[in-house]
Amino acid sequence: MTLDAKIPGGPLTEKWDRHQFELKLVNPANKKKFDIIVVGTGLAGASAAATMAELGYNVKNFCIQDTPRRAHSIAAQGGINAAKNYANDGDSVWRLFYDTIKGGDFRSREANVYRLAQLSTQIIDHCVAQGIPFARDYGGLLDNRSFGGAQVSRTFYAKGQTGQQLLLGAYSALMRQVAKGKVEMFPRREMLDLVIVDGKARGILVRNLITGKLETYAAHAVVLATGGYGNAYFLSTNAMSCNVTAAYRAYKKGAYFANPCFTQIHPTCIPVHGTYQSKLTLMSESLRNDGRVWVSRQPGDKRPPNQIPESERDYYLERKYPSFGNLVPRDVASRNAKEQCDQGKGVGETGLAVYLDFADAIKRDGKDVIEARYGNLFQMYEKITGENPYETPMQIYPAVHYTMGGLWVDYNLMSTIDGLFVLGEANFSDHGANRLGASALMQGLADGYFIIPYTIGGYLAGTELPEVKTDHDAFAKSKTDVTAQAEKLLSINGHRTVDEIHRELGMILWDYCGMSRDMESLEKALKMIRELRARFWKEVNVPGSSEDLNQSLEKAGRVADFLEFGELMVLDALNREESCGCHFNLACQTEDHEALRDDENYCHVNAWEFKGKEQAPALHTEPLMFENVELSQRSYK
Ligand SMILES: Cc1cc2nc3c(=O)[nH]c(=O)nc-3n(C[C@H](O)[C@H](O)[C@H](O)COP(=O)(O)OP(=O)(O)OC[C@H]3O[C@@H](n4cnc5c(N)ncnc54)[C@H](O)[C@@H]3O)c2cc1C
Repeated sequence: MTLDAKIPGGPLTEKWDRHQFELKLVNPANKKKFDIIVVGTGLAGASAAATMAELGYNVKNFCIQDTPRRAHSIAAQGGINAAKNYANDGDSVWRLFYDTIKGGDFRSREANVYRLAQLSTQIIDHCVAQGIPFARDYGGLLDNRSFGGAQVSRTFYAKGQTGQQLLLGAYSALMRQVAKGKVEMFPRREMLDLVIVDGKARGILVRNLITGKLETYAAHAVVLATGGYGNAYFLSTNAMSCNVTAAYRAYKKGAYFANPCFTQIHPTCIPVHGTYQSKLTLMSESLRNDGRVWVSRQPGDKRPPNQIPESERDYYLERKYPSFGNLVPRDVASRNAKEQCDQGKGVGETGLAVYLDFADAIKRDGKDVIEARYGNLFQMYEKITGENPYETPMQIYPAVHYTMGGLWVDYNLMSTIDGLFVLGEANFSDHGANRLGASALMQGLADGYFIIPYTIGGYLAGTELPEVKTDHDAFAKSKTDVTAQAEKLLSINGHRTVDEIHRELGMILWDYCGMSRDMESLEKALKMIRELRARFWKEVNVPGSSEDLNQSLEKAGRVADFLEFGELMVLDALNREESCGCHFNLACQTEDHEALRDDENYCHVNAWEFKGKEQAPALHTEPLMFENVELSQRSYK
């Protein structure tokens, strides 16, 4: 299959307007004839479900949590970008577009990114109208702060709880539709299969996580907004229930998986502090607005920070990148922290940390100002580490945070399966090889509030969709396959827990396909993952039954998918013999240890096609055309 991104013609600035005009419309009276399944209730899923229901479609909305309000989006701390130029510091739609393309190391589509920058301004208006309590400046206008990779202040925020506030807005819109009967809500359901009829996505199979029963649902189109797969690494900043299952099972049914190796490592997380830890905590990137990152100039210096005089400190980001300083993008900041630690300059007990210091900011602005900006983040840090960041610098280290890879989608957000749309972190679009801060929320909401409501209409209006019910054979087949897998997992009765094996997989991925990779380590990882997968199917112990609440079974299914998907991540990394964004191949770097792209051979999206169990997937590529920005070596100096 040739990948057709369906990018509209005409000048970049007019593509989206033109496309909206050219898309077929569903007559308002006919919208109620269409049923749409939305899987996921994070910012992408909730905004999509609410908006499509408001338009008149009948929506069924599913999530794993006991309420849509607990989707992982709630964890987002720092903020959401928009090119409003309220700060009058030179921002524009074009600058946001340019920063995002450059920040993603020129591995995203121009047309998508321009549309995202355009829609960013509408998102803020929409959310303000919903009542989101964004921070305000002294004159009552919305306040802004800066995030990595940008020299302008364009990030709108609600203290350190932006995701929570935005999700409450989307949730309110969703609940309005639930009350009106246009959205039917299905919490505590896990999608375990996509059902395809005559080549089109026509339904899903879910497990009711309370009763254990399998349930099937049919629709005219399916929308996946199931988030990212950072938890393949076991330790990450993601919520514990984030997984790859829905996307991976759709991949097995024919949806191509794009750029699976593009994992974002975030530089400001609380360092790992124990073997049995299950999660890492992010300290928002917004902290690097005021906090200064440093280590001692002397390797092996174990003095407490307050005993290291100013002259012996190395503010290495400010020294190396004078234009951006501590606000360099995440991949650059993460790599530099690792480099300092590799040189023996890491701080703390393990030596795998650097300082993020607020002493100067407190001296300059006063403790009250810093508390007003970041108070809840400081409190969270103190609760976890027992140290007061107003008095002692925070210790931070990079951790897995976000996944730029995801199911391949065209400009309409449709996957390679007709009628299967993918939104938010679950798709691959817009961020290239590295996501700039505060742009995931922007993308999820652009997809949900402003793109899918139009593009799904174009699909429904222009496609023949005969009635399909859940008594169709395709649903029965799906049930048989999913039941067989659950029974197999329950019958192994081995001696290892699901978590133990997941942790082992995570360590392989982190060590060999993490912050930096090389061909040799990737080959090694491939072998180790295959061996671990074979052991999983012999040694895992999944107690209980499938006809009941069984969290071990839930986890086992997700880890089984991670064990296959981890191999795809490594294969993808092996295939890309260049460094770009967060994908850092040690063999491809400049003299200054910056990522060295190979545009001649890799200026494309990798999209993988499933070819069968234990068989090599097929690689397809979508060339990336840059007509409006010039491909150049990224520099933040
Ligand atoms: C700690 C943290 C802080 C962050 N801070 C920021 C920030 O400041 N700014 C920013 O722009 N981005 C931030 N991000 C990134 C951003 O929060 C996420 O990328 C974004 O919220 C993802 O939204 P989503 O709607 O795509 O997915 P999610 O919010 O992850 O929602 C996924 C939904 O899918 C459901 N689901 C998943 N699998 C299944 C299945 N098999 N069956 C049924 N349902 C399923 C879940 O139940 C959930 O409802 C942060 C991320 C983290 C981890």
